[in-house]
Amino acid sequence: FGALLQQDPQIAELLVSELDRQRAGLQLIASENQTSPAVLAALGSTLSNKYAEGYPHARYYGGCSEVDKVEDLAIARAKELFGADHANVQPHSGASANQAVYGAFTAPGDTILAMSLDHGGHLTHGFKVSFSGKWFNAVHYGVTQDTEDIDYDQVEALAREHRPKMIVAGGSAVPRLIDFERFRAIADEVGAIFWVDAAHFIGLVAGKVIPSPVPYADVVSFTTHKVLRGPRGGAIVCKQEHAKKIDRAVFPMMQGGPLMHGVAGKAVNFAECMTPAYQAYARQVLDNAAALAAGLDRHGIRPITGGTDTHLSLHDLRGVGVTGVDAEARCDAAGIVLNKNAIPFDPEKPNVASGIRVGSPSVTTQGMGVEQMDAIADLMHRAITQTDGDPEHAVAREIRAEVTQLLQAYPAYPDPHAG
Ligand code: PLP
Repeated sequence: FGALLQQDPQIAELLVSELDRQRAGLQLIASENQTSPAVLAALGSTLSNKYAEGYPHARYYGGCSEVDKVEDLAIARAKELFGADHANVQPHSGASANQAVYGAFTAPGDTILAMSLDHGGHLTHGFKVSFSGKWFNAVHYGVTQDTEDIDYDQVEALAREHRPKMIVAGGSAVPRLIDFERFRAIADEVGAIFWVDAAHFIGLVAGKVIPSPVPYADVVSFTTHKVLRGPRGGAIVCKQEHAKKIDRAVFPMMQGGPLMHGVAGKAVNFAECMTPAYQAYARQVLDNAAALAAGLDRHGIRPITGGTDTHLSLHDLRGVGVTGVDAEARCDAAGIVLNKNAIPFDPEKPNVASGIRVGSPSVTTQGMGVEQMDAIADLMHRAITQTDGDPEHAVAREIRAEVTQLLQAYPAYPDPHAG
């Protein structure tokens, strides 16, 4: 860091101020986490210099002896961690991993069946502004009005009607466990590939605290930076019969050279995930998410589906008469970082939204437990109902002081200004 500070103080200072920002607020964005110093060391390494197009022991560049060993380890660890036949650790991101899944199993114009974005899906699941919506015929299922959970009967009916090439389960705002067995049966009935986009919850699978999609799905794509707590990136695991197709779809179909520093970070993270400490963290992520959802519920901020089985909950703010966009701004001004989110059947536009999404991974990494989740729910309720988005509002200042006090006991990373 000293070299950066000397050469480019402008960027160095921004790195420090971003670390200060991460340390100063309560981080409740469900897709974020705080990766370990070991993973950060791999990311900041000279592996970033190396071209390694191809796969271990079959590269298009010389000098790959060491990165081959790194990628071999990352692949072996991913296979062991998830009990998978095959792993590809090269996708640059979750969206790149998903692109490769399309590349492996579909051709432009094919029909896919996925969860709609406004009910919790993802842009890459056929939303119209994404390549997936432009190049494929996407048919979407949603949740039922009464349970607010996946409408499996609708999935089955749409699959029978449209006979999709591929059916995808998973999304960005799905608080409940997914019935992979039911999806598998539906896919088998219509002869579709069953793909699980496990980006959000794969960290809980790695910690063995929720069921794994790996035995059921043809292919599972995921990000490595959410609950999993690794470097920013993507990965894919699949059945042996699809291994070649997936590898060819990642490279050379969709990507060029892999980011070997990221691959090293993934290897470090996969090893971390096999420790008892990681499993205890994953268990605590679940307990904390449930406690936070229940705490907000007690304040009239209702969790969609009535609660959560995962690391995230989605909340309907209509009970307290505040929109998602206002709640996000009010929490932000009070030192609480989260995102507005559309809720199923939302009467508001997506950029206003009637809901918020909250997640427990970051605060759990910081060592907080259910007691702190109750305190956070109280702080959020006060921020949402008693402030106006102005950081100088007296109640916002009070809440920020309480947030600071809480974070002193549970810091994210050591203080860069100390010593
Ligand atoms: N799939 C799902 C379900 C996601 O939630 C996300 C990210 O939020 C992605 C894919 C895309 O991941 P990335 O942002 O790394 O491209």
